[in-house]
Amino acid sequence: MSTAVTDISSAKGNLEPEIRRIFEKQKAHALTLRRSTAAERIEKLKRLKQAVLDRTEDIYKACANDFRKHPAEVDLTEILPVVMEINDAIRHVKKWMKNKKVRPTLMMLGTSSYVRYEPKGTSLIISPWNYPLNLTFCPLASAIAAGNTAVLKPSEMTPHCAQIIQEITAEVFDEQDVTTVQGAVEETQLLLAQPWDHIFFTGSPAVGRIVMDAAAKNLTSVTLELGGKSPVIVDKSANVKKAARNIAWGKFANNGQTCIAPDHIYVHEDVRDTFVDEVKSALEQMFGELTKIGDNPDYCRIVNAKHYARLKGILDDAQQQGAQVAAGGLHDESQDFLSPTLVTGVSGEMRIMQEEIFGPLMPILTYTDTQAVIDDINSREKPLALYIFSKDRDNIETLLNNTTAGGSCINTAMMQYLHGNLPFGGVNNSGIGAAHGAYGFKEFSHERAVVEDKFAQSQLFHPPYNDFTRKLIKLTMKYFV
Ligand code: NAD
Repeated sequence: MSTAVTDISSAKGNLEPEIRRIFEKQKAHALTLRRSTAAERIEKLKRLKQAVLDRTEDIYKACANDFRKHPAEVDLTEILPVVMEINDAIRHVKKWMKNKKVRPTLMMLGTSSYVRYEPKGTSLIISPWNYPLNLTFCPLASAIAAGNTAVLKPSEMTPHCAQIIQEITAEVFDEQDVTTVQGAVEETQLLLAQPWDHIFFTGSPAVGRIVMDAAAKNLTSVTLELGGKSPVIVDKSANVKKAARNIAWGKFANNGQTCIAPDHIYVHEDVRDTFVDEVKSALEQMFGELTKIGDNPDYCRIVNAKHYARLKGILDDAQQQGAQVAAGGLHDESQDFLSPTLVTGVSGEMRIMQEEIFGPLMPILTYTDTQAVIDDINSREKPLALYIFSKDRDNIETLLNNTTAGGSCINTAMMQYLHGNLPFGGVNNSGIGAAHGAYGFKEFSHERAVVEDKFAQSQLFHPPYNDFTRKLIKLTMKYFV
């Protein structure tokens, strides 16, 4: 295997031609990959999986250096999802690649038709910092399974993880197959200027717009895995203890830096106080005494000073406008540390209710009227996730029927991501397209429609339009009209 370290930093000032060179090399190779077999793709997937497993210790170190993430959480949220995605592709790619026969319609009697799954060709995968390996290698598994080349552009905010990603791809793949380009805005925009066959972007809605704009210039297809404010509803029939535990885990794992983390919680007035107490008690069960959580290695950090300042600013803004801290609020700028913080008395004008929080702040809103909750949710951008905690079937159906979201869980949180047989994605502002398993494979594939005409009966409808053809067309129309 040739070493495929694309060290873009050494190409400073010369970035554009270097990116163009990589693109052209992959474009030429993509034609060869069109004919790649399931066995060849499986072999690549196996090598990727092995390389990730071989570098586990280095991945722990990189995640610790980037945001003090506990190795257990690295196993659960970085390595395991990647291995599961690769295993799924290895197991099913042969089936996914098979032509799917379709039944002939009446007009098509005498034909044999099917859908062929073809690789789109060259793909660009741009990923965020919050689950750096997971959100780079999972789409890569789909790209490989579908027979594409890929350039990976991990986030510059987690440089240790980006380095590992680059080393793994260099070790496992030829540059013409898969390579990593490190960099920030300038590098990404140069990459986006190339006429890719597909761009798979995971990140914020704001940058998603930039990606879609760039893709539009070449009519490149996109998958956009974006974010936003994911609401949670806890009604008065809910098992409040269980709800609090699930919501606390979803909100504070990875320090709240999860795209599908519960963002803000609508709690029925009758159970509000119990809910607040149960969240505190769930946090104590998970992290011990909350005043000492800063010393607990299970609780990771905000990724950098910029995001710490953003989150502290959101909290200050809420407090200045009359919100109260019901628990937490501890902070240490020198460590980018903010403790799990429950905020009550929030209102719609506060930043905490206007921006995606993406950190350990939990605004709790009290409600009595379900319709008011529905109206508030529908007045906002469509969320990536919406969670319902309830034992009332009618209420669950009312909430599902009157809202939309990329995905939802009932009486749990975040599980829609881990379920490999479900499509994972958003809707409009929270995303376009879907990831995972067969859905990810399709995202990187072109579904080519093929009709094989056995008896040439379509010629019966060709000119000249004499009595016979006109009668035949009329007869056909009569059947349909
Ligand atoms: P981001 O949009 O700032 O960055 C994502 C990627 O885009 C990075 O690789 C970055 O280098 C690049 N980028 C940043 N600015 C750019 C620009 N102006 N032009 C071109 N490229 C640019 O997102 P982030 O801060 O890394 O991640 C947080 C966001 O991602 C949140 O909104 C979160 O909800 C979302 N997210 C979504 C999912 C999902 O699966 N739907 C998963 C994780 C994170």
